[in-house]
Amino acid sequence: MTIDHTHDPALRSWVTSAEADGTDFPIQNLPFGAFRRRGSGEALRIGVAIGDQVLDLRLALERGDWSPQVRAQLAPLAVGDLNAFMALGAAARISVRVALSAALSEGSAQEGVLRGCLVPQADAEMALPCRVGDYTDFYAGIHHATAVGKLFRPDQPLLPNYKWVPIGYHGRASSLVVSGTDLRRPLGQLPPGPDGVPGYGPSRRLDYELEVGALVGPGNALGEPIPMDRAEDHLFGLVLLNDWSARDVQAWEYQPLGPFLSKSFGSTLSPWVVTLEALAPFRVPFARPDGDPPPLPYLDSPLNRAQGGIDIRLQVLLQTAAMRAQGLAPVALSRSNFRDAYWTPAQLLAHHASNGCNLRPGDLLGSGTQSGPEAGQGGSLLELSQGGQQPLALPNGETRTFLEDGDRVLLRARCELDGARPIGFGECVGTVLAAPNP
Ligand code: MN
Repeated sequence: MTIDHTHDPALRSWVTSAEADGTDFPIQNLPFGAFRRRGSGEALRIGVAIGDQVLDLRLALERGDWSPQVRAQLAPLAVGDLNAFMALGAAARISVRVALSAALSEGSAQEGVLRGCLVPQADAEMALPCRVGDYTDFYAGIHHATAVGKLFRPDQPLLPNYKWVPIGYHGRASSLVVSGTDLRRPLGQLPPGPDGVPGYGPSRRLDYELEVGALVGPGNALGEPIPMDRAEDHLFGLVLLNDWSARDVQAWEYQPLGPFLSKSFGSTLSPWVVTLEALAPFRVPFARPDGDPPPLPYLDSPLNRAQGGIDIRLQVLLQTAAMRAQGLAPVALSRSNFRDAYWTPAQLLAHHASNGCNLRPGDLLGSGTQSGPEAGQGGSLLELSQGGQQPLALPNGETRTFLEDGDRVLLRARCELDGARPIGFGECVGTVLAAPNP
């Protein structure tokens, strides 16, 4: 991970909103997203978030002054095909980052032309950033795995495999939706009561999961594992992921093959993909607590030990329908940090491909719920309410054990370390609608 002039905290943009305190999208970030002008019906194109604006890369390619190499690299972005750009790998990503950074910097000769290529984010309709062919959800949050395990197995919260093998299951890509999409409460089979007969109806224990999603860049051929020391060459960037979960359905269906309909009714992605390059200043060593087993050699590398972790401050907020009606802002439910994950994105990717499974550009790897080590830092209501035993008190007097209809869940993430300009991920938002009739 090289730090270069595009990360210089003193670098400023002529887009004035990119200089506002607290913006997620200063010129040091430059995340990619798919959008069209709201209501225009125009073809999707890829844009780059800068302050409260989007730089339309279709217009920027038409009107801007770029080298032949950068023109070729921008071409798939102009037609909305982030997957094709993802397949090009780090060299193209860095080349485009350097060109956009220069073009958007104060004093750029391109300012006059590119001003006309900006769209306010408020006027942009976002779509999923890429085609996600496959979605795998891991379980790399050890504090979540421990807290949830304790609810079921107080004596042995973590199963014996946890510290050796990254646990995961195959998720459903077709029901991934972009932030802002409402989500219907799922119907499902509910655990049996005393009569031994399961019910069927709306989930009564609907939950969220605070996760980080890693999107794959260049893929690998079927049968060809990806070694750890090249794993990050196959990563494109990160998004926020809400892996909505129906806990009652999950508890009944998950044995012996794992989660199924309790997860596949919908998962929400944030629209902006923060690239590995933007995250370079926030890399941290990956280390295990004393006494924990070191990763097996195929999940270990000097680079991963030195800087496999990423310091990302994560937050979940909730706004109920009553809070919206009362004009109350969303309230923070918990905070955690992605650096506490038990496995790094590189390890998840190397493990995924270790059996020869082919990954493809745009594939999504979910991190698993990211909870902090302390009580009150749970990344799901299952943890925060102790399995529904301990209702959470909200500031307006409402309480929650699980989500109710009208609840809006917001995930946010920021990277803030000394010596770097802070960057953020934007929001990952979804509102729960009533279930269909059973
Ligand atoms: Mn999950």
